[in-house]
Amino acid sequence: MVNTSRQRLPRQTILVAGGAGFVGSHLCDELLALGHRVICLDSFLTGRLKNIAPLQNHPEFSLITQDICDTVEIDEPLDQIYNLACPASPPHYQADPMHTMMTSVEGTRRMLELARKHEARFLQASTSEIYGDPLQHPQREDYLGNVNCTGPRACYDEGKRAAEAMCFDMLRSGRVDARVVRIFNTYGPRMRPDDGRIISNFIVQALQNRPLTIYGSGEQTRSFCYVSDLVGGLIAMMSKTPNPRLAVNIGNPGEFTVRELASFVCSLVPTSSTIEHRPLPPDDPQRRRPDITRARDILGWAPVVPLADGLPPTIDWFSRELAETVDSASE
Ligand code: NAD
Ligand code: UDP
Repeated sequence: MVNTSRQRLPRQTILVAGGAGFVGSHLCDELLALGHRVICLDSFLTGRLKNIAPLQNHPEFSLITQDICDTVEIDEPLDQIYNLACPASPPHYQADPMHTMMTSVEGTRRMLELARKHEARFLQASTSEIYGDPLQHPQREDYLGNVNCTGPRACYDEGKRAAEAMCFDMLRSGRVDARVVRIFNTYGPRMRPDDGRIISNFIVQALQNRPLTIYGSGEQTRSFCYVSDLVGGLIAMMSKTPNPRLAVNIGNPGEFTVRELASFVCSLVPTSSTIEHRPLPPDDPQRRRPDITRARDILGWAPVVPLADGLPPTIDWFSRELAETVDSASE
């Protein structure tokens, strides 16, 4: 269930780059449910076939396995392109930093070029990481950020900043109807157990009775958005007419320390897990919380799933996922 009234709009042909990933696969589900044709383009760098397996027999769904940094030709007319292709978890995007940067720069350039050729509306999945370790709290879209351009997060943060710059250049010059959403930490079913981000780590560790790994003091904060809320926000931004011509934060303003999240997870999972402290990674943002006034005003969007409601289905999903892995290992 997604936070948009499910109004069936005229059928559109929509390319979802990164459609086999965590967020992208939920977006593909929802766009098909709205009656659209969906083409998923993915290199399976971090995405999984099982995320989209149920869609493979859908008559309006097709899959292209390709890297967005390579030439992409689509031989049917496209109405919309969502560009979600990019690893999002720090361990994954830092594994091959050059490729992460190229995915945001060269990949986004190619996706924008495809949008120009097809006269398709374009949405770029940007990130709260463009604010870096923010000196303004909560983060409003007019805050210009505090990013270390030489640190290990730069391949992601600076790549996404460059992608935003290209989107706005294409928009200003009238070549592409481009839109930019800045996504804050999002969670839900279909995150990979080895994703490495906090929600998946803590849930998997609690389910396996392993220590929950808190990096640094655990006093740093994040704000967690349930995936169905995010998908509603992406579709609202893509559907908005006229183009707002402004980047929009999409996230849930509920703010929690890492320590609070650890306690919350342990209160929901019967576990004997303890806490293990690990060093804080370099440039780890200390506080993060979206100001969503713009999303409320322009899109009429706000999240409806608090962490207390989003964690239980996420925990159930990871439980089943881990059980499946154990079953298949013992077969
Ligand atoms: P994910 O890693 O699950 O999904 C990314 C998808 O893109 C994967 O299917 C991957 O295989 C694909 N991909 C990566 N590089 C590619 C390339 N060069 N060519 C083709 N496909 C490629 O991550 P996610 O959490 O679903 O994030 C989706 C998007 O949202 C990303 O662009 C990310 O930066 C953005 N975002 C997500 C969050 C979050 O909390 N989930 C927060 C901020 C921004
Ligand atoms: N974090 C943690 N333990 C983990 C994973 C992450 O304490 O096992 C911390 C991390 O240092 C950061 C916060 O949780 O302060 C969110 O990290 P995540 O990787 O989920 O997202 P991001 O830092 O990109 O917002």
